[in-house]
Amino acid sequence: MSLLTPEWTALLYLVAAVCFILALKGLSSPKTARRGNAIGAAGALVAVITVFFSARLENIPLILAAIAVGSAIAVPVARRVQMTQMPQLVALFNGVGGGAAALVAALELSHSEDSWVRLAVVFTMLVGAVSFAGSAVTVGKLQELISTRPLLFPGMPWVMGAVMLGAVVSGALVVLSGSVGWSLALLGLGLAAGLLLVLPVGGADVPIVISLLNAFTGLAVAASGVVLGNVLLLVAGTLVGASGTILTKVMASAMGRGVTGIMFGAFKGGSTAGSTAVSDRPVRSSSPEDVAVQLGYAQRVVIVPGYGLAVAQGQHTVAELATALADRGIDVVFAIHPVAGRMPGHMNVLLAEADVPYESLRELAEINPEFANTDIVLVVGANDVVNPAAKSSPGSPIYGMPILDVVQAQQVVFLKRSMRPGFAGIENDLLHDPKTTLLFGDAKDSLSKVLGAVKAL
Ligand code: NDP
Repeated sequence: MSLLTPEWTALLYLVAAVCFILALKGLSSPKTARRGNAIGAAGALVAVITVFFSARLENIPLILAAIAVGSAIAVPVARRVQMTQMPQLVALFNGVGGGAAALVAALELSHSEDSWVRLAVVFTMLVGAVSFAGSAVTVGKLQELISTRPLLFPGMPWVMGAVMLGAVVSGALVVLSGSVGWSLALLGLGLAAGLLLVLPVGGADVPIVISLLNAFTGLAVAASGVVLGNVLLLVAGTLVGASGTILTKVMASAMGRGVTGIMFGAFKGGSTAGSTAVSDRPVRSSSPEDVAVQLGYAQRVVIVPGYGLAVAQGQHTVAELATALADRGIDVVFAIHPVAGRMPGHMNVLLAEADVPYESLRELAEINPEFANTDIVLVVGANDVVNPAAKSSPGSPIYGMPILDVVQAQQVVFLKRSMRPGFAGIENDLLHDPKTTLLFGDAKDSLSKVLGAVKAL
């Protein structure tokens, strides 16, 4: 017997759905993102509790045990994960969601007589399996467990074509006959399609593929709502599918790329990884004291944060440095590139953690015309997002990506550990420019030394 009447269940589902919509609204601005996240989590909790008390559940001890095991794994992992590993975690959770939707649909097959419901079962199983296997590859690439370069083998497009054809045929047979054997074949082909789809994608494009797979999981979950006759799954899945699609589009255009180019570019021989060559051309290196003098006597300083700032966890120190310079009457702002770091909004989140006021952040279009009037640009652990090759080298993996035009400033100071390239794996000519100096070392360490020297001026 269920404890909630259908009316109460419908009302609570409505509350959860409204929470999900408010969560998305909150997540659209850094100021409200934390609250949006909390509202979304509350909505999910309402949804789980409602299902628990409204469905006629069997095997309650098993369900509670599964919840306990899931929570015991997920909570410590989510608490301990480094900010720079967040995309991997998102990909992992997303893949597991797709896999769960596929398994639930597979189990429902024996109860579905209606062809339309079986069609929804087939869609959920196929898309969920693609999302599961594809997400597993993205985790492997981001964690560098497998090569971040596009992985191809001869005849791969043909194999891909055969797998897709096999999936369509077995899907049609499942709809017509409800056969369990064909549904297992469909699952296997879905997993193979997920692997084949993501292996050829180069490292720098992986975060965009994660967003695309997130949209796939949303669609699989929405279809599982049709299978189970559950409106909330339909609403939540559609929201994830739509927002994931929009995010994929926004990220791809911020990188100056098309989604088909990202997914299938490697088949045409285009590189999405680039070379990891390190040039032995001379560079000018400097000391923290010299950088402090340069900064301390400037009028206008722009700080460009990048992935290396997140790795070094130097956000609090860079915020302190900005305050120390502002206290000397210097105009200091942060220039935020849309794909700096490894996930959308990475730099906004990082700087918000250190309470950098939102008013000090400048977006790419806003700051680019101002570099010409800037005395010093301090590039902290960024590389690709300031690399002029994006403008000048057709064929380079970042060609066409809009960059921060720091080369226009009077002087540029890079804080990085070595001459190694950024994520796209290509050399940055700006490091060898006469107006550039390099301060080698871990970003947090270098920032602390520069801060100490600025305070001593
Ligand atoms: P990059 O990966 O280009 O460069 C990071 C730099 O940080 C490296 O040159 C590295 O040099 C340096 N670094 C690493 N660790 C440290 C440390 N502890 N202290 C000091 N320096 C450090 O980062 P960007 O932010 O400039 O660019 C982001 C890249 O990610 C782009 O290629 C973008 O296309 C890609 N990308 C990002 C997405 C997003 O959503 N944000 C989405 C898709 C792609 P060294 O090793 O010498 O220290």
